[in-house]
Amino acid sequence: MQLPNIENLEINKVTDDILKIHQIKPPFRFSCCDGLVILPKKERNSNSIVLDLNIEPYLVKKVNEIYGPVSDYVCSHGHMDHIAHVHQWESLGAKIYAPFPESTYLQNLKNFYRGFGFSKAMDYSIIQKFGEVNGYKKCKRVNSFKPGDLLEFEDFTIETIPFLGHSKSHIGFLLAKERIIHISCLGFDQPNPGADGFGPWYGFDECLIEQYLKDIDLAEEIFLEQADLLTSSHSYIVKNPDSTPFNYIRGKIRKNQTIVDQAILSFIASNKSEITLENLLKFDLFFPKKKMKGFLLEIYNYWESGIISKHLERSKYLK
Ligand SMILES: [Zn+2]
Repeated sequence: MQLPNIENLEINKVTDDILKIHQIKPPFRFSCCDGLVILPKKERNSNSIVLDLNIEPYLVKKVNEIYGPVSDYVCSHGHMDHIAHVHQWESLGAKIYAPFPESTYLQNLKNFYRGFGFSKAMDYSIIQKFGEVNGYKKCKRVNSFKPGDLLEFEDFTIETIPFLGHSKSHIGFLLAKERIIHISCLGFDQPNPGADGFGPWYGFDECLIEQYLKDIDLAEEIFLEQADLLTSSHSYIVKNPDSTPFNYIRGKIRKNQTIVDQAILSFIASNKSEITLENLLKFDLFFPKKKMKGFLLEIYNYWESGIISKHLERSKYLK
């Protein structure tokens, strides 16, 4: 099978009948994620099925022209980079599935605003702008399921795996027969082997590092025992046995703890001001907020507060 050449898309074969697709240049940082296209196969699925491929609408159209019709589309969770363009798959005829409660974020940006707790920290207009720059449009109808549910489309089966450290209904996908695990947004974001990225995301109140560490162990165990290939939302295809993704994510969490610990130690040493979240935010420990303004500054402040407070709780220097 010859792979098509579509500008701004990178298409790779995971297996002969499963493709991983990546939008090379997203219009904004949080507007796209990589996903899988399960091509039709005799005695499995008669139409293509798409897993969590949130790319710009004009690219959805192109993929659909070549590989469509797409009967079903499954979203992994409600973060912006996974929901913004799903409406386009729906308008081309796919049925949309997503885990509850984040399934409701696809249908209304207000649910995204309240669900992730933005409503406690900022005006809705900020999130409206955030939705706008990322191209968010809502879906009409979303079928919801519970993280952990088994999804069946004809003879194609997906075991959804709850990875709830990242968000309250974030899931990975185990395609047991095909021996593929897709760990979605667990935090493996190396664009190619050896490259660096931001790492795991736990900036919202609902995220828990404790749970995150358990999720990484679970993903590793499933990959090493039940799969030959690993894919994710922002990285390359990994072949078993290779623990790079898991070691990378754990390493990033450790590194983030060190960043916060060092800041605490410098506060203790200087004895000038109190160790408060507000004071720590001024250091730009995780994001270059000094260069930001307007709605982005508010959003990044909120996220960084979430990350820092989780590491404050775990710091040995504050016990
Ligand atoms: Zn995410």
